[in-house]
Amino acid sequence: MTDNLSAKDKRSLFHAVSSIADTASSGPFVLSHGKGSTVTDEHGRDYIDMGAGLWCVNIGYGRDEVADAVAQATRQLSFQHLFGGAASAPAIELADRLLTLFRERANAPHMARVFFGSSGSDANDTAYKMVLHYHNLIGKPQKKKVISRHGAYHGLTYAAGSLTGIPAYHKAFDMPAHGVLHVDAPHYYRGAMAGESEADFAARMVAQLRDTIEREGPETIAAFWAEPVMGTGGVIPPPQGYFEGVQQLLAQHDILFVADEVITGFGRTGEWFGTGRYDLKPDIVNLAKGLTSAYQPLSATIVGDRIWDVLEGASAQHGAFMHGFTYSGHPVCCAAALAVLDIMESESIVDPVAAKGERLLASLKQRLKDHPFVGDIRGAGLMVAIEYLADPATKRDFAGMAGHKIVAAHVREEGVLSRALPWMPVTSLSPPLVIADAELDEAIE
Ligand code: PLP
Repeated sequence: MTDNLSAKDKRSLFHAVSSIADTASSGPFVLSHGKGSTVTDEHGRDYIDMGAGLWCVNIGYGRDEVADAVAQATRQLSFQHLFGGAASAPAIELADRLLTLFRERANAPHMARVFFGSSGSDANDTAYKMVLHYHNLIGKPQKKKVISRHGAYHGLTYAAGSLTGIPAYHKAFDMPAHGVLHVDAPHYYRGAMAGESEADFAARMVAQLRDTIEREGPETIAAFWAEPVMGTGGVIPPPQGYFEGVQQLLAQHDILFVADEVITGFGRTGEWFGTGRYDLKPDIVNLAKGLTSAYQPLSATIVGDRIWDVLEGASAQHGAFMHGFTYSGHPVCCAAALAVLDIMESESIVDPVAAKGERLLASLKQRLKDHPFVGDIRGAGLMVAIEYLADPATKRDFAGMAGHKIVAAHVREEGVLSRALPWMPVTSLSPPLVIADAELDEAIE
């Protein structure tokens, strides 16, 4: 069975974001089932999934309630689209529930409508098109450039992949696209000058953004894109005062703010949304991953009233909004999201996340603080990073990016799945939000 699967994989499957050469020599890593925070491979070996898949299995694996909701929705209405004013009950109910959640849990009553897609990448493409459409409608067609950050991860479709600020994702594909600019990531541990306080560093990052806007011409800048806590780029929580300064600047220059909450949404940072936690007032918020805890592919682009009012007001004259996907608002995916939200609310899954994150951070710091290659341990809620350096005292890097991949391989041998990030030498840990303290302790051990 195993050889058979491995042989079939080698001759048939084109893996996403994988080295073709490495996969051909090592064979695939095949999981067979999962329950809670534990997954089991095809040989029957258990692992604590300290990555929650790709930061997404927030409520844990294998919940019957979600499986039942998916089965029920499939039997009732296995498909309905949203084109031409069509809809299904799960899509309508979920849109309404997301707006309520943003009002109640993110202090964002200005969010006005929900647009559905299937992935974090397509949500960012959708937001990009909405940004351009908005500026065209208000008579500012010259506002076309967008600013993202080095190290950002917004997905890998062409527009979202251009917003992504990690060169490894660009080099094969002639990216980023024209008109996408990147400013520095606000990574205090790496970027601060000797003796610079966090607040001063944040102010310097904001000043760099201001310089970029002024150099390019504010009348040409359409939007600024940011993950509330950068994920794939290194698990980088915003330094104190950063978003305050950024938002002031954006308001001053009439630049839209898109918050990519694909990872931070639904409890990952210890609050329901990064929007609430960091007091953001985004014009658009993108969600995916935790929206269904990855039980089904689904994304949501939530549009604020500033954009919605313009689109609505111009609609009769402009004609249809000509964007969307066959699977926008897929009823089975929306039913899965509703079942996941039921579990999150009835079991108060977000409440203990901050304490679990603290436990993880404190324990890692206690055990690793004197390790010669550990430079920094940081996080927000259950997004945690261990960053390695050849010499933390001088912040000298290793010559290559192999070390943390070796860490991930060794840790897997010990029965724990972690993630070696692609942009800097960081192990990221982002377990299911439901992970028990005993499981956390075992994984740390
Ligand atoms: N945005 C963020 C912040 C992400 O972390 C990711 C994926 O990791 C994406 C967007 C892209 O999501 P997807 O892989 O579903 O297209």
